[in-house]
Amino acid sequence: MGRYLHSTLSLKAHIEEVSGKVVTLKITDNTTSMLSVSHGVKGLIVRINQMFLDAEPEVINEIGALLKDTKVKTPLIRQYIRNNSNRIKKVTHRKILTTHQGRHYNLLDIYNRINEEYFCGSINAVITWGKKTRKRRVKTRRLGSYHGPSNVIRLNPVLDSATIPQYILEYVVYHEMLHAAINVAPSNGKRRVHSNEFKQREKLFKYYNPAMAFLQSKTF
Ligand SMILES: [Zn+2]
Repeated sequence: MGRYLHSTLSLKAHIEEVSGKVVTLKITDNTTSMLSVSHGVKGLIVRINQMFLDAEPEVINEIGALLKDTKVKTPLIRQYIRNNSNRIKKVTHRKILTTHQGRHYNLLDIYNRINEEYFCGSINAVITWGKKTRKRRVKTRRLGSYHGPSNVIRLNPVLDSATIPQYILEYVVYHEMLHAAINVAPSNGKRRVHSNEFKQREKLFKYYNPAMAFLQSKTF
């Protein structure tokens, strides 16, 4: 592919050398998730956007360091994604009206914090409050949604309330961002919405247990 700085193989070798781990490297043109790591049978499966084929060695070093320790700071990766966002094909055809600021919660603030803390700033989705509906009761699973084709996360406005703790907002945003992160095309026509990988990663949310307890006790 001559036009890139690295080949997939040289990049894989570099990442394996820095991290000391066996890596299966998948180059994607995913427009939503720039970098994601999961556990495979043989080592780690690392999916990165093709923009990283042009990344400076320091950025690749940071990816390697991240595989060793997921808590490590990744300012260069974040900066690189920001500087190369123009390379990401936009799939959105029409402009989506977004509302971030609710009466109690600003969704963009929450989204940015969660993106930073759990995804190294690698998620590139749109977030907005959904429209208010008249329906009195909302099932738990409808508190948020992620729509892959338009790359939009919507939160139900019933959550924009003083009676809802912030970690609940964070949990629902994290859950929908995970959908964006694990948004892989179905390979055999089937796909499980909440795969085992999804469920495992969902439990990494700091307040997972309190969030579950709260949501089970609450009728919206
Ligand atoms: Zn879900």
